[in-house]
Amino acid sequence: MVCRAFLSLPGDKTFSMERSCKDEEETPGKDFPAFFSNEMAPFLCPSCITDFVPFSAPFCEKCGTLFKSREGKNRICGPCLENPRNPYIGKARSVGTYEKVLMNLIQAFKYKDKNQLAEPLGRLLQKAFLDNWSPGEIDMILPVPLHRKKARHRGFNQSWLMIRNWPDLEQIGFKDFLITHQGLVRKRHTEPQAGLSRIQREENIQGAFEVLDPESMTSKRVLLVDDVFTTGATLNECARVLLKAGVLRVDVLTLARAL
Ligand SMILES: [Zn+2]
Ligand SMILES: [Zn+2]
Repeated sequence: MVCRAFLSLPGDKTFSMERSCKDEEETPGKDFPAFFSNEMAPFLCPSCITDFVPFSAPFCEKCGTLFKSREGKNRICGPCLENPRNPYIGKARSVGTYEKVLMNLIQAFKYKDKNQLAEPLGRLLQKAFLDNWSPGEIDMILPVPLHRKKARHRGFNQSWLMIRNWPDLEQIGFKDFLITHQGLVRKRHTEPQAGLSRIQREENIQGAFEVLDPESMTSKRVLLVDDVFTTGATLNECARVLLKAGVLRVDVLTLARAL
């Protein structure tokens, strides 16, 4: 149970400073709870912070499905071997599972205008990115274009808010690397995906996206960023459109993975 307390103390700069002094990277994702606690200390009570569930092994190395049995190694899941649900997505990874405290944070960020969460959530995303991809594997990072009706009173893309201020990655080997919200656009409004079946989601979202300048995307390896991976229908449709426009590969990173 999450108490829903949302504390908002000014200034959390010291947290990232402390963090960079530590160096105990062994297994990707292993240190995520401590990282999460540091980032979210200004916003959550000490009890809720411990409710974070990191995205961790064992998961499908391709689609990122978390295996029900929490023992054993990462492998490829049955559907990915036989009949992938989201065939256009290369690989999918997340920060944590979509439950408890992470679910509340995402909802506060999306629906309650807690924009002060954009930077700490963005740092969680960036850590997951660096844990799961190497320099040279990705050329371009794009947010999923704004969706859902709520957009009309938000007026901005929250996935974009989380990634637009990522520190310069060139220093650690990411060359000719672009983070932009202009690669993929939404060309028509669609009904919210929530409450729809997988088939309905696929139909609802089909033809909603467009690549404005295909020439600039030719042979790029793209990472799509969104808040939650539910069925993957929206992300898969974005990937389909990008691949059709000449993109080489589309991977996916989300804050949360629905169980
Ligand atoms: Zn609490
Ligand atoms: Zn899979």
